[in-house]
Amino acid sequence: MKENFDFLMPSVNFFGKGVIQKIGDRAKMLNMSHPLVVTDKNLRALKNGPVAQTLASLEAAGVSYAIYDGVEPNPKIRNIEEAKKLYLAQNCDSIITVGGGSAHDAGKGTGIILTNGDDITKLAGIETLTKPLPPLMAVNTTAGTASELTRHCVITNEETKLKFVVVSWRNVPLVSFNDPMLMLDVPASLTAATGMDTFVQAIEPYVSTNRNEITDGQCIQAIKLVEESLREAVANGHNVEARTKMVEAEMLGGMGFNNADLGYVHAMAHQLGGQYDAPHGVCCAMLLPIVEKYNLIAAPERFAQLAKIMGENTDGLSVREAADLSIKAMRQMCDDVNIPRSIKAIGAKPEDFDLMAENALKDGNAFSNPRKGTKAELV
Ligand code: NAD
Repeated sequence: MKENFDFLMPSVNFFGKGVIQKIGDRAKMLNMSHPLVVTDKNLRALKNGPVAQTLASLEAAGVSYAIYDGVEPNPKIRNIEEAKKLYLAQNCDSIITVGGGSAHDAGKGTGIILTNGDDITKLAGIETLTKPLPPLMAVNTTAGTASELTRHCVITNEETKLKFVVVSWRNVPLVSFNDPMLMLDVPASLTAATGMDTFVQAIEPYVSTNRNEITDGQCIQAIKLVEESLREAVANGHNVEARTKMVEAEMLGGMGFNNADLGYVHAMAHQLGGQYDAPHGVCCAMLLPIVEKYNLIAAPERFAQLAKIMGENTDGLSVREAADLSIKAMRQMCDDVNIPRSIKAIGAKPEDFDLMAENALKDGNAFSNPRKGTKAELV
């Protein structure tokens, strides 16, 4: 537990059904005269989807725009370089990201190389940015990474097969939009993967060495909301109540890990994502019960509390028995939403484990893990 800390809160966040319609007026309020909309081809092609609704609101407010739709999942350095080129060629003055974590991180990365220097790999690490990004708003379409309100920007270097993170308060978008109606058509497998990311982003800060009472409050409520709603959202994407609760969980967990940091699940998931270009949420979910079982001896009381937060009956159990129950509950959640049990499912190969373990121990998320591991243990 940290006793002294700086606590980062996102600035303006629109939440709820239909809030996307406010984006045009907000763009005008921020004096955005020609934003670059950063998104992917899939979302752009959706009829009346999140991109179409964003553009309609901008047009209604008389705001012109340019579009970069080349964002790939696990966004690559070339994506932000292409977007920067377009931004300059089109004389843009601001950025609007539309999508999940990949679009937001690509938009942040574009902003970073527009104002802080061309080589983003040199800016990996904590508080390396010296200049503000261009004004940036984020329309979120998955629940999710919470990148629409975090200080993190995760980019993949294809040459080294490494995902690296630029962590800075300057990365926090000025305004975020979380409209659950934009998420109703997210397919079940994507709902499960992104929802498990939200779950992990609430559990890791709850057991992090950098936690505090405020982040505990955020993470506890986020975990409860995921328990109440993720299975329902996967089973029926059009369940608006379940979608709404997942967005609330995502925002709470995002604020939690923005301030209390993460752990080995994310440190190792970044290696799987970088090496095999695998979906981030799936990587996190597969690792969750395994890593937390390993972490258990470092904080048995916390894991016993986790079991209660997840709705398990711990009456009459010892701390160790209750703690074990929390791991069982994590495993059950993964199974219920069809997360594969083995990393073979994403093509992981034992010959890569040594290097991935070495790099995971260097990942910024490793430092707040409650148990200090060795390379051999991570392998
Ligand atoms: P994503 O952004 O990569 O999107 C995955 C797919 O879902 C895409 O093909 C996209 O078109 C589709 N999609 C998104 N919204 C949709 C919708 N409403 N309807 C239909 N399809 C939709 O997935 P993600 O899990 O949100 O983001 C993962 C990325 O975010 C990873 O690179 C991860 O490392 C990063 N991340 C960032 C942070 C942060 O704070 N910056 C935190 C966690 C993860």
